[in-house]
Amino acid sequence: MRQADIAALLDEPACEHNTPEKSTCARLKPGATAGGCSFDGAQITLFPISDAAHLVHGPIGCAGSSWNGRGALSSGPELHRLGLTTDLSELEIIMGRGEKKLLFALRTTAERWKPAAIFVYQTCVPALTGEDLEGVCRAATASFGMPVIPVDAAGFYGTKNLGNRIAGETLLKQVIGTREPEPMPERPGITWHAINLVGEFNIAGEFWHVAPLLDEVGLWVRCTLAGDARYAEVAAMHRAEATMVVCSKALLNVARGLKSRYGIPWFEGSFYGRRDTSAALRHFAALLDDPGLTERVEAVIAREEALLETRLAPWLPLLHGKRVLLYTGGVKSWSVVSALQDLGMTVVATGVKKSTQQDRARIQELMGDEAVLIEEGNPARMLEIFQAERADLFMAGGRNMFTALKARLPFLDINQEREHAYAGYAGLVELARQMVVTLHNPIWERVRRPPPWRQS
Ligand code: SF4
Repeated sequence: MRQADIAALLDEPACEHNTPEKSTCARLKPGATAGGCSFDGAQITLFPISDAAHLVHGPIGCAGSSWNGRGALSSGPELHRLGLTTDLSELEIIMGRGEKKLLFALRTTAERWKPAAIFVYQTCVPALTGEDLEGVCRAATASFGMPVIPVDAAGFYGTKNLGNRIAGETLLKQVIGTREPEPMPERPGITWHAINLVGEFNIAGEFWHVAPLLDEVGLWVRCTLAGDARYAEVAAMHRAEATMVVCSKALLNVARGLKSRYGIPWFEGSFYGRRDTSAALRHFAALLDDPGLTERVEAVIAREEALLETRLAPWLPLLHGKRVLLYTGGVKSWSVVSALQDLGMTVVATGVKKSTQQDRARIQELMGDEAVLIEEGNPARMLEIFQAERADLFMAGGRNMFTALKARLPFLDINQEREHAYAGYAGLVELARQMVVTLHNPIWERVRRPPPWRQS
């Protein structure tokens, strides 16, 4: 990828971070890969496309865990769970045999798994040796009769966030608009509106809490990028009436591209918590300007909110007033803050490292001026804040789990490795249940007791 293309991707006009005074992305230099490299960002964005094969072209070290790299669930094909790599060795690199090995791997993949498409991920080594990834993919497309898409996101280009954008740009340039969708089924009395959800990854199957509601009100999900997505759905994303960006920063360029190329309006929203789920449904209704849709949306919100009250009733007294230290990664801090407040909890501090300026403003508005905003979350600092703020629960990504457990603090995983689905109204009930189970687990009292030899 040319340096000018990388600079253009770092300069995302729709990102609130991107101001002349403070543009975090533009200040990052290629090679600044702390927190995941560009290749990592590109692969986590596209891996959930479940009927495509995902082939990592590089040494085995880049592919890492080769099974189920992401907790994104599929309701159909599960090819995405398989990690494929060309496993370049020193000898192949020295002898310049990388391209041949890639072509061999592509042939094997096409014949053995017959995927809908193959995404080929560039990594540092073949980018440095100057292999012609695009040329090999072009030849493979012609020869195997299926789309073979090069994803030029070598790790040293920059951060994980840049990788997300490269993945989005790859889809805009090479995939979206290449197919027409299947006709939508007839449903008496309802005019369907086709929508896209960008940045929805169906972690732990959480989108399945929301999908039935969208279906009920008459919103036809053309594509979720990329949780539970199929290649043909991604290729037909240009035939939608509205787009919702579900994870604020990662794929703004896709929403912007869909608007500029195909005139599809978009907004940012969230499905975490009662208020945000209802707001997202209302936002679609307002954007699509269909009185019938508005009526159905209001009816569904009224029913679901009433039901939610009943289902949350046993859990709320056990959560009321509990204090949470929240440190999220990819999940938007402000939307999780809002969901926790819906449960009557107080968020005493939250991480904002990956939040946009707009996200910060929302967090401040929700939590008030006394909120502690954590810029850099090293373990010692987290524990210090936990004690100082008299928190009851530590809610963060899996990498913070051992910090919490070693300090004998109740911990709940909120990031992509989690096993529980928290989106939508049903997800809020599950979140409440998991909070109660974690907070009121008798283990905490036991592990904090002095050991028997000290007691005596
Ligand atoms: S792509 Fe580069 S930075 Fe990323 S894992 Fe591979 S070698 Fe490391």
